[in-house]
Amino acid sequence: MPYSIMMDAGHGGRDPGAVYNGRQEKDDTLRLALAVGEILQDRGIDVEYTRTTDVYETPYEKAMEANQAGADLFISIHRNSFPTDNEVSGVESLVYDLSGLKLEIAEAINEELATVGFVDLGVKARPNLVVLKRTRMPAVLVEAGFINSDTDNMLFDQSFDDIALAIADGILDTLQRNGLVEESVQTGPDYRVQTGAFRSRAYAERLRNELLEQDFPAYIDDSDGFLRVQVGDFDSLDEAADMERRLKRAGYATVIVSGV
Ligand SMILES: [Zn+2]
Repeated sequence: MPYSIMMDAGHGGRDPGAVYNGRQEKDDTLRLALAVGEILQDRGIDVEYTRTTDVYETPYEKAMEANQAGADLFISIHRNSFPTDNEVSGVESLVYDLSGLKLEIAEAINEELATVGFVDLGVKARPNLVVLKRTRMPAVLVEAGFINSDTDNMLFDQSFDDIALAIADGILDTLQRNGLVEESVQTGPDYRVQTGAFRSRAYAERLRNELLEQDFPAYIDDSDGFLRVQVGDFDSLDEAADMERRLKRAGYATVIVSGV
């Protein structure tokens, strides 16, 4: 059975969470929870969400949902707030107590987020938070920067994709280190840009050589009988799409293919 994670977007519906200059925590948390979930799903994790829309549930209901789903891990996404605007910034993760897998995951998430540019304010124990206390699986609550810090908000908006990836990587690296998910699950498929498929080796080699002359990392894949001229070997679809744009500009017909 694949490893399963319940993603929880903090607050929702009539509970906006913290608010700063019209910006509502519940919107940031939903957007980020969905983005992290999508990356985890792509890496082979079975992802469920406490909410995917702007609805209200109590923290108790959220915890019960995770318990009933039998999730292996609970990740709650929040944004922090400080009594005085623009006084504190940084990321902080909360766990029930400072032990075990949850602590390891929380520390890894903070470290990854620090590489994106956040100040790492550390991992704190919060034994009274309902989503940490009533969940039966390891649970981590991530405070992804302060909503009343302009620097954190700027980072949140400008590096949104990197932040989602940082949280997903912190989770996946830790699970992998603990043998809870296979390395192959994390690696996922690879992407190549194909510029032609031939039966004739002469044609395939001519196209490959032409590409190599223009410094495209081209090679011939003949694993299935056809001679497929492909370029690159990328971990992400985005990188493959960049290469495809370069090839199209150079006048080649392309298709992105994925292998394992
Ligand atoms: Zn919150």
